Amino acid sequence: MKIAIFNDNVLGVVKGNRVTDVSKNVGWDHADPNASFLRLMDQFDDLKEEIERETDKGISYSLDEVTFKSPVPSTRKIWAAPVNYRKHQEEMNKMFNNAPRTIEDIALFLKSPESLSGPSDPILLPFKDRRTDHEAELGYVVGKKAKNVMADEAKDYIFGYFALLDISIRGHEERTWRKSFDTFTPIGPWIVTADEIENPHNLEMKLWVNDEIRQDGNTKHLIYDCYKCFEVACNNMTLLPGDIIATGTPEGVGPIEPGDRVRIKIDQIGEFTVDVKLSSAMNSFVKS
Ligand code: MN
Repeated sequence: MKIAIFNDNVLGVVKGNRVTDVSKNVGWDHADPNASFLRLMDQFDDLKEEIERETDKGISYSLDEVTFKSPVPSTRKIWAAPVNYRKHQEEMNKMFNNAPRTIEDIALFLKSPESLSGPSDPILLPFKDRRTDHEAELGYVVGKKAKNVMADEAKDYIFGYFALLDISIRGHEERTWRKSFDTFTPIGPWIVTADEIENPHNLEMKLWVNDEIRQDGNTKHLIYDCYKCFEVACNNMTLLPGDIIATGTPEGVGPIEPGDRVRIKIDQIGEFTVDVKLSSAMNSFVKS
């Protein structure tokens, strides 16, 4: 099932090129989408049939007449994979003349939960003169509280998958800082529930800037797959429902500029396009 949030926090299910309002079937509170979303994930197995029935007869809209919001309304934490594809390691090595270590050496890093944004929201660049890159990634949302869950059981804890952009300023500051600005984690266009993604480790993933293709990868090349990332993220640490995991980017990362349009597309999930703008806010930290 493709679960979306659109317009004024309406809960929708996407089928073909239509999205159906299923808010009333799950007691969705438009004023509190976060609590509603957590309840939806918690009760999903019981609500699923009712939602499916409504999807075929409820009020629906064409996809191009609605505005999609982040399908996860808010999150407590975003765990992200650093170098998790060999070819990305190679390109970073060439680009910056150093040898970045992979996830096998440096595990995961946190992005600010406030960096989360939706598939219709612009990316706001905080600096005019700092190189800021796109990274196309497969992301997923945690459905159940988890601690010390091993990779072979992780599947049961993943609620669903989406496309994710890990926007990254290049430089020598901590990853967390360089990747945590507001709007630096757009996700969407909706959540595809885990039961519909038979194998998350064979999904083609592409990214364009304007009409130029920049990234063309496949999740089969992940060093740590989605489940191993999950294991690492909850090894003696608690994962909570609504937490997000970003699984890392394949090769082809490159800079984005104000005025660009970034399009990401993942097989079996979908695509979205976001505008790049310069933030109007002042910045006091402009080193390196
Ligand atoms: Mn990344």
